[in-house]
Amino acid sequence: MAQKILYIEDNLLNLRLVRRMVMPDGYVLMDAQDGEHGVMMASKVKPDLILLDMNLPDMHGLETLKMLKEKPETAKIPIIAITANAMVGDRDYYLAAGCDGYIAKPISRKELLNVIAYFVNRDVLNKRKFALARA
Ligand code: MN
Repeated sequence: MAQKILYIEDNLLNLRLVRRMVMPDGYVLMDAQDGEHGVMMASKVKPDLILLDMNLPDMHGLETLKMLKEKPETAKIPIIAITANAMVGDRDYYLAAGCDGYIAKPISRKELLNVIAYFVNRDVLNKRKFALARA
C-alpha cells in the first residue's frame, strides 16, 4: 500500500513542488493549509510522515508540532520541520524542539526523498545508498 505523507503548508507553490517531487516514488501526498486543519487531518488519515512548514497562517509550526505530539493517535508519526531563511543552528534548534527531522527551503528533491525514505521506507533508502555507492 502506498505510504501517505501529510504536508502542512500554506504556500501553494511549495505544495505543488513537493507533490511533483514525491509522486514518482509512489507516495500519496495529502495537504492541509494551516495548523488547525493539519492536526485534524493527521488524526483522521494517520499519515506515515508529516512535513510541517514552520510559518503557518494560524499558529507557529512548533505549536502544531506540540499538538500532534500530545495526541496519542498522532504522537508516533515522524514530523519533519520545513523552514525558509535557514540559519546556522536551525537544524539543532528544531530537533531539540521535538521535530524528528529538518529540511530547509529551497527544498532539494534528493534531500526530501532521502529524509522521507529514512523514516518510512528503508528499502528505498538502501537502494539509493547502493546506487550512490556504485556511481
Ligand atoms: Mn508558510
